[in-house]
Parts: sequence; structure tokens; C-alpha cells
Amino acid sequence: MTEQVFRLIPATQNYPWGKKGSSSLVAQLADGSGIPDFKVDESNYYAEMWMGTHPNAPTRVHGTKQLLSEHLAAHPELIGESVIKRFGLENGQIPFLFKVLSFDKALPVQIHPDKHTAEHVHSENSRACVDSNHKKEMTLALSNFSALCGFLPTSRVSEFLAFVPEFASLFPADIIAHFTSVACSPDESGRKAALKDLLSCYAQIDKAEAAAQLKRLVERYQADKESDEEKDIKPLVLQLHDMYPDGSDVFCAFILNHFNLKPGHAFSVTTGEPHAYITGDIIECMATSDNTITLASSPPSHLDFLSNVAYNPTPGKTLIQPTMFTRGSTSTAGSLLYNPPINELAVMQVIVAKGGVESHRELRGPSIAVVVEGEGTVVWAEGAKRLGLGKGQVVFIATGTEVKYSAFETAFKLYRAFVEVA
Ligand SMILES: [Zn+2]
Repeated sequence: MTEQVFRLIPATQNYPWGKKGSSSLVAQLADGSGIPDFKVDESNYYAEMWMGTHPNAPTRVHGTKQLLSEHLAAHPELIGESVIKRFGLENGQIPFLFKVLSFDKALPVQIHPDKHTAEHVHSENSRACVDSNHKKEMTLALSNFSALCGFLPTSRVSEFLAFVPEFASLFPADIIAHFTSVACSPDESGRKAALKDLLSCYAQIDKAEAAAQLKRLVERYQADKESDEEKDIKPLVLQLHDMYPDGSDVFCAFILNHFNLKPGHAFSVTTGEPHAYITGDIIECMATSDNTITLASSPPSHLDFLSNVAYNPTPGKTLIQPTMFTRGSTSTAGSLLYNPPINELAVMQVIVAKGGVESHRELRGPSIAVVVEGEGTVVWAEGAKRLGLGKGQVVFIATGTEVKYSAFETAFKLYRAFVEVA
């Protein structure tokens, strides 16, 4: 009989926006995860740690060379029939991909296509869409976290067009005139259409011209010649200018909402919603997919980007309100549930106090947990089985498994991603 709970070996991704060497949380966790021959290279960037069955950076079963997906294909009962049926899963895939990200440079402005588009594009060009799934995602801040996400209200964009000449100069006069005329009107579809026209122009602007305007803007801000209306946005523009090597996405500061989140804050990103993460350490969980379209990449991707964008301006981003995870009628005091409006996933933050125990009822779907602080044990099979767990270690927990976590000398903190079907 195969175990209900077992250790996993995650995979790291060394994208250039990641934090360097052991300053990266990803490097610290990877160092404890048991990846064979892993040693932190202080000159390398550690951006992401992946835990799941996506083939681009697949997880393996600890102590074997077997892929998690191969193991689950041989033992589908660990995923559970109802989950397999509900999501049409094949080949040992699970519905979610769980990640830790650690970065101090902005990621490219991007969107993720919806399922219909992903299926269509993947069947015609598997490089443009590497899989056929949508990638709705949820982000949970582990440190102070800064991000761009979703469109600013059109009234705000129109103020920037009026007060930031370098930004306005990127657009033809008729586009600006139309945008300004509808920006404050109650006509929602008119505002969305104007926003789409504006973004279409932005995506096609001459790179050299944009770079020249950006240089002018940054010089003006550095000389403290900003207007009162630009005072709030100036620090973000200067920060993005330092981060984006080619400057191409900096003007997005005048189009997208900017957020500063605190540890424990979480939000979800839906398909078609433009976003760029700027600095922070985060937990990310998404429907199993790696389909990303960036605004800065050269045509024809621009057109893919524009046709897949959801033009929904909002004055802010609603945070996911975590709730206490309950076990029957008793709540488990150290377990907070983040349940985004995404069918494929939810994430629990579990803090076990020193000398304490935290119990989780059985979940009706598979989960993956990663320890980010301290050490302890996970116990299952009514106490008959146990595994010691330290920082960076990752475990798979089969559907229908009741588990208890206990901490010894130190408090113990882990994140558990899972899917549940009714
Ligand atoms: Zn994303």
C-alpha cells in the first residue's frame, strides 16, 4: 500500500527578477527541501519554487527519481475519483500549481488567457500557450509586497494624460480627446472601449520613442519638477525605472492600480487581468498552467495580449478575507483558510505554537504543504505514522487523510494548498 503522506522534491526557477543567493526565500527553502546536490549559488537568482505536476518544472517523490505525476498516475486514489472527474484530470495531474516566489525586481506586465483561448492557441501553437489550461491565480504576501494589478479608473488615467506630458505624447491626439470625453461618463461600455483603444496604442508605440519620453519624464522627476497631481505616483515611476531594464513597462504606472500589501494579505487575479509583481516574498497558487502573455513582447503577441485583456477598471483590489479553518464544530486556532473564487484551489496558513498541536479534518482532495519556518512533525493514520518536517520541506497529503501537526522547540509555520470538491 502506498503512503497517504510523503515528502516531495520541488523544483526552482532562476529567473533574473528573483532575489540573489541566500537572500532569496526560495533559495533558503530549496536548501532545506532535499533537492539532490543543491547548494545555494550566491551569484545566482532564485525567483520561484514550484510544487505540483506541471511539466515545466515538475516535482519528484523524495527518495526516488519518480515524478509526482507518475506516482499519482499509478495511484489515482491519492487524488480521489471525484477530483479527477470534476476537473477532467489525466496522467496523474493535480488541479493546482503551488509556488513560493521571492523577487526584488518587477516581473513583466502580463495576463493569463482564459481556458477557451488557452485550448485554442495551444492546439495551434504549443509555444505560445504551453498548456491548454487557464491560469487563475491567488497571491498571499509573506513579506511587504508591492504589485500592479487591474486597471485604474478611467477618470484617474485621464488625469495622468492631462498632467503627464511625456505619457500623453505616446498617444495620438484623437485617441486622447475621445478617452478624455468618456473617462468620467456613466457609459461603462464606452469607457471600456476607450481603455482598449488606449492600450492598443500603448502596445504598438515605437520603443525608441517610449524610451526617449521615459528619459525625459525621469529627468523631470529627478529634478523635482513634478506637478502636485504627480507627487503620489513619482516614487513608483522612479522605482519601476530602476527595475525594468528596457523601461518598456514603466508607463503602466499611469494605467494600472498599484498596491502595497502586508504579510498575510492575499488577492486573486482572474484571467485577462493585467498585473506585474514588483517586490516581495509571496505564496502563489494557481490552476495548473504556465500560460503567460506579456505586454512587452514583440508582435504578434501584442495582439494576443490585447484581445485577451479584461477591460475592467476598478478603484482598488478586494483582498481575500481569511477565515478560521474549522474541524467539525471546533475551530483550529492556528489555521487560517484563504479561499479565493477559483475552483481549483485554496490555501491554508498553519501556525503551530511551540509545544502545540494543530488538527486538520480530512479534506476531499489532494494537498501539498511547505514548511517556511521552524520544525515539527506531521502525524496521520490515527497516530500510527509520522514524518519529521523542517524549513523548506514539502509533503503531499492524499485526499481523505486526517492529519495532526505538532511543534517541539520552536513554533512551526507551513502553507497547505489544496482542492476540495463537494
Ligand atoms: Zn500572473
